[in-house]
Amino acid sequence: MRNQDFTTGLDNLPRALWNGEVRSFVTAHIDLNRIRQNAEAIRRRTGVELLAVVKADAYSLGAERMVEALADVVNGFCVFVLKEAVDAGIYRRTGKKTICLGPPESMTPDDYRAFLVTPAVSDREHAMLLKSAHPALCVDTGMQRFACPSEQVESTLLAGDINEAFTHGTRSEHAARLVDLAGQKARRLHAAASALLDEPSAYLHAVRPGMALYEGAVKLTTSFVEVRDATGPAGYTGFVSPRFGVILMGYSHGLRPGVVMINSQERRILEIGMQSAFVEASPEDKTGDRVEILNDTLTPQRIAGEWKTSAQEVLVNLCRTARRDYIE
Ligand SMILES: *Cc1c(COP(=O)(O)O)cnc(C)c1O
Repeated sequence: MRNQDFTTGLDNLPRALWNGEVRSFVTAHIDLNRIRQNAEAIRRRTGVELLAVVKADAYSLGAERMVEALADVVNGFCVFVLKEAVDAGIYRRTGKKTICLGPPESMTPDDYRAFLVTPAVSDREHAMLLKSAHPALCVDTGMQRFACPSEQVESTLLAGDINEAFTHGTRSEHAARLVDLAGQKARRLHAAASALLDEPSAYLHAVRPGMALYEGAVKLTTSFVEVRDATGPAGYTGFVSPRFGVILMGYSHGLRPGVVMINSQERRILEIGMQSAFVEASPEDKTGDRVEILNDTLTPQRIAGEWKTSAQEVLVNLCRTARRDYIE
């Protein structure tokens, strides 16, 4: 006998979905005002320049919109590769500078100059080749990847006539080491990503947060397309649960086992497939109900704890395939 509660939510999906106007069953609700407020709060708190990190499509939140939203609050932007700055139109839309944090891809200074991009170099050869693009020196203070070893800092700064140096610091000692190594020659120093925003000694001349800009600004939602009382063990694994719902979000959308929230109650994900997942449901939960993957309680930090990874990984993976709904 067909369970009375079981109606397929697919019947209720908007026509737009079938017309290809909606590409995803998952929506990222992105509060641009909150992101601006976060940036303003960071500026007030640190009192130094703010370089907003919008690499990886602004952690999957959409670099173009982020750049626009932050343009008049920040002093500049950071990406990883040159193409990210060009694609997001950072210079064209804001007139502001961008630092490319990754190793340089082009040895033609004009490629950077045309977009007001500062390449990061870590050796003498690149420093000399890119001298006219006014490169910044990435200094190794412990990270040990695409960064200049301490004993070559001085000569590399000289070789490229460089006056900006930075390090990817995770502790205040890293910032102190940068000052020791480059403070004499470079006029502008920066070290602090989100993790060092509580360490005033690491602020130096600028801070470079990514994650901290996006805190509290993202809700990720989908909805139950089916809810039913179980007739026996279900799914691939034969899990047993009295009642469950199905969402159209799976491994391919970055989903992993953990909790979600339905009608203000936390529920466990029971089983995940490629493009769908089973979730516990209460007797009140029904087809069409909103299923929250990220919200004010289910923060990227909290999910990261469950997944044993970073909040950055949670955000970038869960939001990558989502439809974006910007709130201004
Ligand atoms: C990604 C990155 C940042 C920003 O990191 P968050 O932890 O997200 O704030 C800052 N600096 C460098 C060099 C980075 O690669």
